Amino acid sequence: MKTHSQVAIIGGGVVGCSVLYHLTKLGWTDVTLIERSELTSGSTWHAAGGFHTLNADTNMAALQGYTIGLYRELEEISGQSCGLHHVGGITLAGTPDRMDFLRAERAKHRYMGLDTHLVTPEEIRELSPITNTEGIIGALYDPLDGHLDPSGTTHAYARAAKKQGAEIILRNRVLQTRPRMDGSWELITEQGNLIAEHVVNAAGLWAREVGEMAGVYLPLHPMEHQYLATEKIDEVINHSTELPHVMDPEGESYLRQEGQGLVIGFYEQQCEPWAVDGTPWEFGHELLEDNLERIGDAMANAFVRYPVLAKAGIKQIINGPFTFAPDGNPLVGPVPGVTNFWSACGVMAGFSQGGGVGLILAEWMIEGEPSRDVFAMDVSRFGDYCTKSYTRLKVTENYQRRFSVSYPNEELPAARPFHTTPAYGIWQQQNAVFGSGYGMEQVNYFAPSGEEPYEIPTFRRSNAFTTVAQECNAVRTAVGINEIHNFSKFEVTGDGAGAWIDTIMAGRMPNPGKLTLAPMLSPKGRIIGDFTISMLGENEYQMNASYAAQSFHMRWFEQHLPDSGVKIKNISQQRIGFQIAGPNSRELLSRVARGEVSSDALPFLGVKPMQIGPCQAIVQRVSYTGDLGYEIYVPANQQVALYSELIAAGKDLGLRPFGMRAMMSLRLEKSFGAWLREFKPDYTPMETGLNRFLAYNKAANFIGKDAALAEKLKGPSRKLCTFCVDADDADAVADEPIWHDNKVIGFVTSGGYAHYSKKSVAIGFLPVELIEPGREVEIEILGDRRRAVLFTETLFDPDATRMRG
Ligand SMILES: Cc1cc2nc3c(=O)[nH]c(=O)nc-3n(C[C@H](O)[C@H](O)[C@H](O)COP(=O)(O)OP(=O)(O)OC[C@H]3O[C@@H](n4cnc5c(N)ncnc54)[C@H](O)[C@@H]3O)c2cc1C
Repeated sequence: MKTHSQVAIIGGGVVGCSVLYHLTKLGWTDVTLIERSELTSGSTWHAAGGFHTLNADTNMAALQGYTIGLYRELEEISGQSCGLHHVGGITLAGTPDRMDFLRAERAKHRYMGLDTHLVTPEEIRELSPITNTEGIIGALYDPLDGHLDPSGTTHAYARAAKKQGAEIILRNRVLQTRPRMDGSWELITEQGNLIAEHVVNAAGLWAREVGEMAGVYLPLHPMEHQYLATEKIDEVINHSTELPHVMDPEGESYLRQEGQGLVIGFYEQQCEPWAVDGTPWEFGHELLEDNLERIGDAMANAFVRYPVLAKAGIKQIINGPFTFAPDGNPLVGPVPGVTNFWSACGVMAGFSQGGGVGLILAEWMIEGEPSRDVFAMDVSRFGDYCTKSYTRLKVTENYQRRFSVSYPNEELPAARPFHTTPAYGIWQQQNAVFGSGYGMEQVNYFAPSGEEPYEIPTFRRSNAFTTVAQECNAVRTAVGINEIHNFSKFEVTGDGAGAWIDTIMAGRMPNPGKLTLAPMLSPKGRIIGDFTISMLGENEYQMNASYAAQSFHMRWFEQHLPDSGVKIKNISQQRIGFQIAGPNSRELLSRVARGEVSSDALPFLGVKPMQIGPCQAIVQRVSYTGDLGYEIYVPANQQVALYSELIAAGKDLGLRPFGMRAMMSLRLEKSFGAWLREFKPDYTPMETGLNRFLAYNKAANFIGKDAALAEKLKGPSRKLCTFCVDADDADAVADEPIWHDNKVIGFVTSGGYAHYSKKSVAIGFLPVELIEPGREVEIEILGDRRRAVLFTETLFDPDATRMRG
């Protein structure tokens, strides 16, 4: 066996072979795939082989489109058939909410260039005469859906890669992976040792075990999954063309033609996590014992939906395991905490997603960053909170919800509450309705007393509408209090801390006692963070960003930390507190804090250590509400004491707690962007307006400087704008298409109702040549094109006198 390779991929399933192919396609040919047995020896060999583009995340959907489009290219290069059947697919809607969901999906597809369309029950029967459309309102038809031969496709990737220089070593289990001083790895395998600059974990069913070899935990879990194939069916034989796929989400099944019979698979509620304590090494080409009882309800539904099944004999039942991450999307990218160790696992739909996963990982390894935002499948979107049992509970929930409608305001119940702050009990007593982000409970809003604390999932305005309006009103007319635990916080200390931050961040550095807003850019000049940086002392800084991105950001920091001097610590859970915001917030602060809080003593963007009651706090004069406001940080174990001080002093000032729903409404009327909505690696500073915080001329050669300067010279072709929408009972949320002159010319990044201004608002991209105040466009919300008017002044406090005063 060879002893050196630039890359060693562990695992020869469809994903490992796709990574191998894409590395060669993008130019790395010294690449080796090591497979324990034969190719396809994990989940891959027993897959049903279906593929589709539907995915709630638009970039994931685009990558699924890429995967499907790739198969012809693969067949040509490899000379190996993938066994493609492009038969199209129908997703049925049996409820009005499902129809809303499909309408929203269809709308997204317009600007993604996907040719899906909505069909009526009559059209469904024409396309698939074996489908009983009783109770069906309509469906989404996707001509790209189809199925293939899983083994042929995996071998096509492998052959194409080999033709381009890759090597595949079969029947050779990797036993250990050892990190070396220079960042490379030594792989101990059954056939000898191999040194590789990079290791890719594509071990599928054994990805947890291969992760453990490198000392990391990958949050994924295998689940059992059953499908069955029937004997010949006359109605199938007699149909003139191959039948399309039919997805019946309400019935929890998917169906397709296989030869002259049918294949039907189920995502059942009584599902079964498999190999909870680890995947046995001897498992391979066997199937699991079938369990028809578990899919009894789903089968009963299927007999009604497809009456031909009732008289069809069952030829074969397949029960096999495959892996899921807690949210059902893959785990891809550099694994946090280790060097040159990459993840390509947790891929639950290898034939829809495998090509995209291979492409993205190859770009990331070769070019240093992927060509688009892939946070939805970035392994770093999960953090330490993802314990083994949390993962199992969430994966089970995800499996059960595979066919559920996803609502924009929905909060999923499994494994909750999990992480909480000391204030959790206080909020509970006030009838809080909680959401969860990155494992942490956060208040969405406070339900009126006597009402069940539950927000009903919907695509339209929810039962929280009136209460959220009252919370917004309290902030704008008196003072509101809300927790600030859903910012991440990093403490940066040590010799050279400031100089290091200056190269990592594209913004200006703060002076002592001040904070600045600073975008963080990738080398290609794309936005990978929107931070506030506070200078707390010499060589002491606090950097805040999105709580959900803390592992993503920490990975970046660790990759760029100098060898000595600078220390960085994630203190997101240790340093928490509250923000107080609104016209009475200064008066409230003056009542509780020792020392001056006038606008001279604590000006806008000022930072100051202050004593508040018994607490030693850090007070920052800034608020994401866009109002006069303060963020007050204390050690977590002082949070309740801080709350008591503020609540006692704020009684006669109209102090009222508010939640994240109000927070998002308030930031919209200031046109403030949010992470992963307006600010993400798909966008650049000039497109999003973050260029105003860029210090293009600073001495530090910050990451992304050249690209940012080039963009400044050239100018962007699109820019974010804010619109007032003539909405009815549903506001824009994100990803809705923007129409002009009967053409889709942009899309919404976020939207909602600005309660204080009483306007439905959307933020979205428009080509620069169309941007002018008063420009009329249409935004498609749940299938209706709604008039929307572009405005340039913010709805609230346009000259910022309140915020800065
Ligand atoms: C019943 C069923 C039906 C399915 N239907 C579909 C479908 O219709 N469409 C779809 O897209 N997906 C489907 N899937 C899912 C699909 O099978 C998976 O998404 C896909 O196979 C994952 O591929 P992989 O390469 O990540 O993992 P795997 O196929 O598990 O491959 C991992 C490989 O790594 C090797 N390996 C592990 N550890 C080591 C080691 N230490 N050293 C060397 N080699 C190692 C293994 O031997 C194995 O070959 C289905 C799955 C099941 C179970």
